[in-house]
Amino acid sequence: MVKILKNKQSLFWAGLLFAQFLLFYIFSKSEIIVQQLIAFFHFKKQFQNETFSHLKYSFGDILYIIFIFFLLFFLFKSIKSRNFRVLLIILNISYFIYQISWGMLYFQKPFYDKNKVEISSKELEKLTLKYIALTNQERKKIATKNVFKIENIEVLKSSILHSQKRLPKEYYPFETSNIDNFKASLFNPLISYTGILGYYNPFTTEAQYNSELPDTYLPFTISHENAHQLGFAREQEANFIGFLICKNSDNSELKYCAYLFVTKSLVNALRSSSPEFASQASLFLSKEVKKDLKNERMFKEKNDSLLTDFFYFTNDIFLKSNQQEGSVTYSYFIDLLVLYERKNS
Ligand SMILES: [Zn+2]
Repeated sequence: MVKILKNKQSLFWAGLLFAQFLLFYIFSKSEIIVQQLIAFFHFKKQFQNETFSHLKYSFGDILYIIFIFFLLFFLFKSIKSRNFRVLLIILNISYFIYQISWGMLYFQKPFYDKNKVEISSKELEKLTLKYIALTNQERKKIATKNVFKIENIEVLKSSILHSQKRLPKEYYPFETSNIDNFKASLFNPLISYTGILGYYNPFTTEAQYNSELPDTYLPFTISHENAHQLGFAREQEANFIGFLICKNSDNSELKYCAYLFVTKSLVNALRSSSPEFASQASLFLSKEVKKDLKNERMFKEKNDSLLTDFFYFTNDIFLKSNQQEGSVTYSYFIDLLVLYERKNS
């Protein structure tokens, strides 16, 4: 009798989880509901940022560790007792919180309707040369002739927060704040092996970055995570907003690293359509930039392992499941960049 009751309870929570999947799937198709949840995100984000910014360490990371511990504990317990009720309750609650606080933001209206932009490889080549020149020019403003080093990470973070205010209203009509909720990830060196540069925690709105990265990665990574904090869920849109934040800044470190990111993305995008151009492009980079890129390569090689391939693969699947392109193509970012360039130059 008790066993039947236990099974019934498990079945109820499993059914509820399934009902949630269905419900949020239906929600994602409704513009009005998505709009409401976006409004809710903007309403609560200030409070969350404020609360968690007081903690020096990533509270979200600690939360994940506790969560995984609990999950494993109840998983073993459930298997032993053949009662999955508690495990299913935990899953129900976390899935619900995730969806109302972040998940639905993947269904905001994209910046533009995809497949409407036609870009020739000639146009991309011209743009690549422009960004190579910008990268070289910005690198010159940085004092060190050795490998790029961030002078003061706190100054960099406040430059990002300052520059958010300059985002064009067409992309971001909301208020911005000055709250520094950027945290170094606690999962080092694990994330270095997995090739993760940074990640956003939807439960605490903290932006984590991998502090072991070569310094050339950090400014753009933190800006990208900041774009998530502002409410841009899609990876390529966060890249684009991150790029705008850096570009509109007066901070050369931010500008340089964003231009370098754009140059790399453009060269990557041209690899299949203009392989010859793509392979020659780096020759136009200055000696200092080449040194910085070599440093990035050395970091990658040092951390290269089976794990990287494994996580790259899973990351790719995760992005696809969220209706995005995988990490191999950059085309949505490139489209946004090209549209922006056509309008502003
Ligand atoms: Zn991201």
